[in-house]
Amino acid sequence: MRVKVLGAGIVGLSCADELRRRGHRVTVVDPQPGRGASHAAAGMLSPAGEVWHGESTVLDLGRRSMALWPSYAERLGVPLHTTGTLLVGRDHADLQDVHRQVDLLLGHGATVESLDAREVAALEPRLARVAGGALLPEDHSVDPRAVVAALLARVGTRPDDPEDRFDATVLATGARLPPPYASLVRGVRGEVVRAHSDDPPSRTVRGWVRGQHVYVVPRPDGEVVIGATQEERAGGPPTLGGVARLLWAARELVPGLDEAGLTDVTARDRPGTPDNLPLVGPTGQAGVVLAAGHFRHGVLLAPLTARLVADHLETGHTDPALDPRRLIAPQEENSWT
Ligand SMILES: Cc1cc2nc3c(=O)[nH]c(=O)nc-3n(C[C@H](O)[C@H](O)[C@H](O)COP(=O)(O)OP(=O)(O)OC[C@H]3O[C@@H](n4cnc5c(N)ncnc54)[C@H](O)[C@@H]3O)c2cc1C
Repeated sequence: MRVKVLGAGIVGLSCADELRRRGHRVTVVDPQPGRGASHAAAGMLSPAGEVWHGESTVLDLGRRSMALWPSYAERLGVPLHTTGTLLVGRDHADLQDVHRQVDLLLGHGATVESLDAREVAALEPRLARVAGGALLPEDHSVDPRAVVAALLARVGTRPDDPEDRFDATVLATGARLPPPYASLVRGVRGEVVRAHSDDPPSRTVRGWVRGQHVYVVPRPDGEVVIGATQEERAGGPPTLGGVARLLWAARELVPGLDEAGLTDVTARDRPGTPDNLPLVGPTGQAGVVLAAGHFRHGVLLAPLTARLVADHLETGHTDPALDPRRLIAPQEENSWT
């Protein structure tokens, strides 16, 4: 098939790469490749870490996609950081939040190991003294900017040409879907800070510090990603208040970050949907397929989405939980051009 992919974020590029691997002719169109939410993402591959938002379907999808990540990363030549994720509570009230998450996770059959204060200190000596925590050994991370660069090198992008004819179009424009699908996705602003540390923690740390949630994601090259704010608004620069709260909480947990060199502050829109599940599959309009609305999990779900889109185009199969038609009013079908 000749397939056009609109949008060169991690989702569109993953779809393009998978389709190309299966022998289809793919054209990717994006005036600013890789500069959307994928440019901000911390890169946590955290199926269990998302359960606390009450999203058990995401846990299931995340597990399926996580299973694809090791071979996917290897194929792209991008390292996976596989030392797990540590949840911590700074004081005893914060620890209640950790305990609530651990109970939820155990209820969903996730692998989780509760730790007391001494066990956390032994595992991660660079942390300040905390009240306790838990280890999620199966929640890993990857550098999304490296993934996007590797995918772009494989599939490339081309200027849009109205003369080109395609058998199918995949709409993968993140938080900005073209009409008539624009209202299916809303932007949920997220701010994130990058720094370079000579003494970073050895694994992802997700913590509660006097009620403020923060994560610190280390990379093998010394980069640390500190995130993230979450606001129901789209657009605008990073705010001093948001960044200050993130840095305060991160330094409370990892005091050595005081010496880290600030390298980047980024704000982007997460593509949120009304039910917080992605839109992957048919629109009802012949040949027009959605791969969008991945909210907080687009990096995690990219390899699974790529498979689902390619399977759909080849066989017509759609995962019912992700079928975009669940949210598309009948009159919106057939009007995209
Ligand atoms: C602060 C923050 C932290 C995050 N952390 C994580 C994390 O740790 N783990 C995780 O799994 N997810 C995380 N996410 C979510 C993740 O970033 C998104 O779910 C994911 O990047 C969505 O990818 P995408 O390709 O759909 O969209 P995007 O990356 O936004 O890409 C969309 C692309 O479409 C292009 N485009 C837009 N309009 C058009 C058009 N009309 N024509 C052509 N191209 C167009 C844009 O230029 C852009 O390149 C985070 C998000 C944020 C904001």
